[in-house]
Amino acid sequence: MDRRAIAISGIVQGVGFRPFVHGLASRLQLGGFIRNVDGGIRIEVEGDSQTLDRFVSALTESAPPLARIEAMHWSPRPVAGDRSFRIETSATDLDAPIFIPPDVATCDDCLAELLHPGDRRYRYPFLNCSHCGPRLTIIVGSPYDREKTSMASFAICETCRAEYENPLDRRFHAQPIACPKCGPQAQWLDASGHPAPAMVDPIRAAVSALNDGRIVAIKGLGGYHLAGLARLPETVAELRRRKHRDEKPFAVMVRDLNAGRWLCEISADEEALLQTPRRPIVLLRRRPTRAIAEAVAPGSPWLGLMLPYTPLHHLLMQDLGGQTLVMTSGNRSDEPIAHDDREAVERLSGIADAFLVHDRPIHLRCDDSVTRIVAGVELPIRRARGEAPRPIRLPIACDRPMLALGGQFKATFALGRGPHAFLSHHIGDLDQCSALRSYEESIVHYQRLFGVHPEVLVHDLHPDYSSTGYAERIAGDRPRIVVQHHHAHIAACLAENGVRGPVIGLAFDGTGYGSDGTIWGGEFLVADLMEFRRAAHFRPVALPGGDRAIYEPWRVAASYLIDAGKDPSILGDDLAPAAIKAVARMVERRWNTPMTSSAGRLFDAVSAIAGVRRRVSHEGQAAVELEWRAAESDESESYPFGVGPGEAPETSWILDFRPTIHAIVEDVRLGIKVGRIARRFHCMLIDAILEICVRLREETGIGSVAISGGVFLNAILSAGAIARLESAGFRVYRHRLVPPNDGGLALGQLAIAAARLRNEGG
Ligand code: ZN
Ligand code: ZN
Ligand code: FE
Repeated sequence: MDRRAIAISGIVQGVGFRPFVHGLASRLQLGGFIRNVDGGIRIEVEGDSQTLDRFVSALTESAPPLARIEAMHWSPRPVAGDRSFRIETSATDLDAPIFIPPDVATCDDCLAELLHPGDRRYRYPFLNCSHCGPRLTIIVGSPYDREKTSMASFAICETCRAEYENPLDRRFHAQPIACPKCGPQAQWLDASGHPAPAMVDPIRAAVSALNDGRIVAIKGLGGYHLAGLARLPETVAELRRRKHRDEKPFAVMVRDLNAGRWLCEISADEEALLQTPRRPIVLLRRRPTRAIAEAVAPGSPWLGLMLPYTPLHHLLMQDLGGQTLVMTSGNRSDEPIAHDDREAVERLSGIADAFLVHDRPIHLRCDDSVTRIVAGVELPIRRARGEAPRPIRLPIACDRPMLALGGQFKATFALGRGPHAFLSHHIGDLDQCSALRSYEESIVHYQRLFGVHPEVLVHDLHPDYSSTGYAERIAGDRPRIVVQHHHAHIAACLAENGVRGPVIGLAFDGTGYGSDGTIWGGEFLVADLMEFRRAAHFRPVALPGGDRAIYEPWRVAASYLIDAGKDPSILGDDLAPAAIKAVARMVERRWNTPMTSSAGRLFDAVSAIAGVRRRVSHEGQAAVELEWRAAESDESESYPFGVGPGEAPETSWILDFRPTIHAIVEDVRLGIKVGRIARRFHCMLIDAILEICVRLREETGIGSVAISGGVFLNAILSAGAIARLESAGFRVYRHRLVPPNDGGLALGQLAIAAARLRNEGG
């Protein structure tokens, strides 16, 4: 007889690990116990050594689907004579790292019960088990136990308790376990938030309201959605009007994969992504169909599609008979998603005609994740529900606990402890008061949840970012590490790929504060986790009117035209000549015209010159629509560009787009189709990327490239650049875990700070 103590860390709490281990030990007739500890679980088992070996290897080989084992160690113990295997209640061990599971979509077993008329949970909208259900959004504290969730107020019934305590049951120790007798209940509220009479079935009421073309606010896992039938143009238009959302595409929910296939082309990779337990919104290529109104995603060849992920969604989608629902986050444009019940009803009254709610509190608001497949691999756009707060391993561990504060837009933050970065869910744009509040609250909440007390703060170089201000406010006497924006982008890409560099880092985005105080965004950095050199960049142009130019791409276009020696008045009839003249004068006199090397602004300028977009309702819209148009053409011809010497010794090369602008203006004059112009522009940029990378490889001997920055959400650019670079012999690192946009900044900041701290410590 032998006895072993086994310590496992990783995501092993709240994912059915204890019942799995109990079953395994019982089958092998091993005695001992398992208990949750902070950061993982501890097992002690005894039996003959061969059986113990089998037990240990089965732990990793057949672990439950949602478990992520980070590390497993075992050591011999004196035999204690345990005959049977038991599950002990939680104890805490504050030295180990803590993992909190993300929210998980309804599993197949639960779905079968939900739809089975004989089951005691038939049509119960809140059923779940140890493999599925709410997690991050209901967890109040750690370790993950029912008393530390927003389910604590629901007294568990006798029948549920029997399941909860039965090691052979799927709901053994499922913390949010619930049934119609003891769990949360759905409720139907009218437009002003008054509850319907008790005999009204909330789901049937919602279905009939939706069928009548009404807009219903639906309480979900991490917040409220606004829903309406996607095939009704008036409903969708009304939703846009009430949400003050002019043109941003809405996401839709379909009953199942087959319903999705009517609307979109779905590849095998995309199918797998749609069906992961994370259930993200996946951007898919649209089919021509009249099953959804044009206003759902005006002009877009893409549609954001998701499958139901809660039992409530499944019931709704079943009862709607396969009709598609617009599901957009329940907020006015750009505000964080509403999650507090009273606040939601207040904020959404006037937008929603009625409310489908429930009485399980949402402790943490969390949006839907958004993602897509690019060049056969996932490229995340927004990392939130289903993914956060899954840890990411850092290439260099944090020697002290740290907090990285991210950027200003698409804000996230990250806690670092040891080898792990806990990157938060997507929060929003911090110039919104409500987003800033949510950001600050989430930071406090995560610190408590993960038991991390940051001794070092890390933030962006931009003095006016709210995240920088927050760091300054809370720092006290803790040291602050300041990281340049584009360096953080590249480091984020390095970190998730588990490498330290050096690489040639391509950071293409809209705006980031440069080390020289100008606005950067078309950068080739020779970088590792410690430092960077701005080895090449786009030729800077004037940004007439500063931030105003972001919403009026014609201003950047005028500036690019003037820089190329062209007359900006060719921009067209829909712009007043006086306005163009005024902008030309601003550029000439350098008045309110910061200089920028931004790649995002170059896309804006080309979009405006080609006539795709001259004004936009949200940042990046002109660039995105240029990509849409480029997708219409299979043109392989390219435009010329120039490469000039940079400011030695730091910068070797400047990419000069004046020849490109000349050629585009000529194509516009010749009446060449917009799609072809857009495509040629993309081809040019891919050529230019390769050209600069080859030159930098010659200069430095570095053959690895990392691509990051929001501009690389552009699938044509990303896929094209990756293919060309790889065929030229480069090793290309790209994002697949975190978004290339500012949503990934905090991870990069953390990776850099950890490296610098390690370096200081010797
Ligand atoms: Zn389940
Ligand atoms: Zn119950
Ligand atoms: Fe950025």
